[in-house]
Amino acid sequence: MSAPYEATLAWAQAQDAADPLRSFRDEFLIPPHEGRDSHYFCGNSLGLQPRAVRPALSAELDYWGELGVEGHFKGRLPWMDYHEFVRDDLATVVGAQPTEVVAMNTLGVNLHLMMVSFYRPTPERHAILIEAGAFPTDRYAVESQIRFHGYDPTTALIELESDPSSGLISMEAIERVLTEHGSRIALVMLPGIQYRTGQAFDLAGITRLASRHGCMVGFDLAHAVGNMPLQLHDSGADFAIWCSYKYLNSGPGAVGGAFVHERHARTELPRFAGWWGHDKATRFQMGPEFIPTYGADGWQLSNPPILALTPLRVSLEIFRRAGMSRLRAKSLHITGYLEWLVKSQLHDVLQVVTPAEPERRGSQLSIRVLGGRERGRALFEYLMENGIIGDWREPDVIRISPAPLYNRYADCVAFAHTARQWASL
Ligand SMILES: *Cc1c(COP(=O)(O)O)cnc(C)c1O
Repeated sequence: MSAPYEATLAWAQAQDAADPLRSFRDEFLIPPHEGRDSHYFCGNSLGLQPRAVRPALSAELDYWGELGVEGHFKGRLPWMDYHEFVRDDLATVVGAQPTEVVAMNTLGVNLHLMMVSFYRPTPERHAILIEAGAFPTDRYAVESQIRFHGYDPTTALIELESDPSSGLISMEAIERVLTEHGSRIALVMLPGIQYRTGQAFDLAGITRLASRHGCMVGFDLAHAVGNMPLQLHDSGADFAIWCSYKYLNSGPGAVGGAFVHERHARTELPRFAGWWGHDKATRFQMGPEFIPTYGADGWQLSNPPILALTPLRVSLEIFRRAGMSRLRAKSLHITGYLEWLVKSQLHDVLQVVTPAEPERRGSQLSIRVLGGRERGRALFEYLMENGIIGDWREPDVIRISPAPLYNRYADCVAFAHTARQWASL
């Protein structure tokens, strides 16, 4: 049997020509490099700008200019209900019911707001489980919450070590730590996809295990949202949080999101409240008593930043047309191709850290350069100089993410070709 892939540019270009999603690339601004499109593999860090964002922003500015305060009630999409205009598409992307999701704030803020409600430590049970090497915000946030409640992170912050040889975290390791410490863990807080390794986790499996030990479960979906299909509702997780500037292409510092499972929609758990979380029907009676609105909306503090929500609305409309299942199909194939190129053409210089099983990863491949950090940095800089845009994560990983909305198979060939060139220098 012949290999399913070929390393030639001609083969890659034929794939691009046959790609049912190929026209979506034209909806994005591709940053140029020396007068040509760069090979942009950094959608895991900052997704590209949809062309439709600028006119959409311009329209909101026009409403503001022409309507002033009346823009809250008039215009095509009145600002009063603006966060609701992204709700259904957001729910589809994360596999939730519309009332379980809300676009608000940023990831770090939402993580704290969620922990106010879902990290309720007691003397017997006050630990939080995260993965070792977690993204700094996640670690700082959980550590500061532990301190805020008067506990000591040196004992109450449990960090799940990855397997020393693979750098990955197995389900067995999660099971082991829960068996050992589950009775004192209040909250299990893990990523959907680990940012450094690109490993995807089984959210439903983790939730099942953690719930058996009586722990609350939250997921940080920064690298998972818009990258792989999610079934948040069915996973049973208590909450999740994410940002929207990575695979969701909603712009630098974009409005993030949160998921609160339906069973908490009317929770009596404490929360930090603001007027936009108040029952919509009576919000403008401006009464002294906070009556939370049903579902995730009840965690909103402020009236939403319309100009910041606009790119998210535009971007989610693209996701609606493309569909997560078609995006996933291309993502599996193009990431598989990139991996095959690395393994077949570059095995003497590069090693893929990300799991090989497609269901254990999204678009991102984390690639280690053999021979140490200095060589890694040298290759990374060579790639950047040649218009191959990835990113670097200390101590020795280059992250390359072919995003199915705008990356081409030809980009993968350019990556492999340029890396080969560097190795032959
Ligand atoms: C990108 C990312 C963040 C960023 O948090 P912000 O609040 O959006 O700045 C946090 N956690 C993880 C795991 C991330 O990948």
